[in-house]
Amino acid sequence: MDMDKVAPVVTIPNFMVAIVKIVGNNCNAHCDYCFYRSGNKGAQTMSLGLLKNIIGQYAAIFPRRAQFIWHGGEPLLAGLPFFEKIIEIQKDVFPKKAKIENCVQTNAILVNNRWASFFRKHRFSVSVSLDGDKISHDQFRKYRDGRGTFDDVLRGIHILRNHQIEPGVIQVITRSSAQRSKENFHFLADSLGLRSWSILHYCDTRKLNPLRKQSLSNKRWADFFKNYIDYWIKRGNEDLRIVDIDEFLCGIWNKVSSLCSLNGKCEEFFCIDWDGKAYPCDGYLSTNPKLAIGDLSSEGLDEILRGRAWREFLTSAKFAPEECLSCKWYRACHNGCVSYRKDGKYLFCDARKQIFIYLEKTIGFQEKGGDMR
Ligand code: SF4
Ligand code: SF4
Repeated sequence: MDMDKVAPVVTIPNFMVAIVKIVGNNCNAHCDYCFYRSGNKGAQTMSLGLLKNIIGQYAAIFPRRAQFIWHGGEPLLAGLPFFEKIIEIQKDVFPKKAKIENCVQTNAILVNNRWASFFRKHRFSVSVSLDGDKISHDQFRKYRDGRGTFDDVLRGIHILRNHQIEPGVIQVITRSSAQRSKENFHFLADSLGLRSWSILHYCDTRKLNPLRKQSLSNKRWADFFKNYIDYWIKRGNEDLRIVDIDEFLCGIWNKVSSLCSLNGKCEEFFCIDWDGKAYPCDGYLSTNPKLAIGDLSSEGLDEILRGRAWREFLTSAKFAPEECLSCKWYRACHNGCVSYRKDGKYLFCDARKQIFIYLEKTIGFQEKGGDMR
């Protein structure tokens, strides 16, 4: 089939989030379920030339508003001078009035006072991977020698807080940690006092590591989520935002979610790996070279974002089977994230339906909007 005939012409949106993996498959931790684990290759830091190239080309396409997510591997392994260079280049290439957001996704192990004051000074958002209390976190998030990383992650979080940075937290849920949902919820909400965090369910769709038995089934994921909804409601939810509950509620209240896995807007992201290869986004997609959409060492960002591979990806991302098109929740779900589809269908469809129904029953849709149809 000639994809040029079936894939729509892509207009580059007014705004796209650049996920930049400044460090490749290299991390100071060795978490059991990490999908980079098998390829943990030692030093793989992006060159300063490529960094300058990416920021410069991005600024030429999106001069007014920018969002960079600095990612890895563990991005802090690139070192503080590398991050200082990021700010220096941004000052050089963006117009003075440009609104630039910098976010970093880290395990927080390397965070010290110098890092924290840099993040504070340059208004970085810091997102930390923390799976719950020490028991759940240390079960899989370890160093190479088998020690858990919890104590060092917590130290990093406290240093950030000492510098008035309230980090976002991403909590990965496995089969084991789902069984300790109550303990983990209360640890994050009450002992650690987070006001907001996001949850991700562990699912090794590509069977990349031996921990795949920790992947959650639809039933376990839905049960976990319902438990969290109950704890959240019972605790009083005014000052506590569980991002995923909020974003699912957008579906109930007939609003557009800001999460790509719910709103279907993959076109708002692209990812550049440490060596210049471009991918649709991070995660599973950027571990598969067959899914690369271009290479900055031989083409411009503009070319990549108008290119055939990108169009093909977006065409597959927008695909929805008949069951979705006639589903009550389609506008709030969009057949889920492409990374979690099999034969074009979202693998966690059943869980999503259960979650939407449970939210409708417990919180209701009349408060903020009408029926979904
Ligand atoms: S592939 Fe998934 S994670 Fe990536 S942009 Fe699309 S919905 Fe988001
Ligand atoms: S809930 Fe299931 S059927 Fe409905 S849109 Fe989502 S994936 Fe499709």
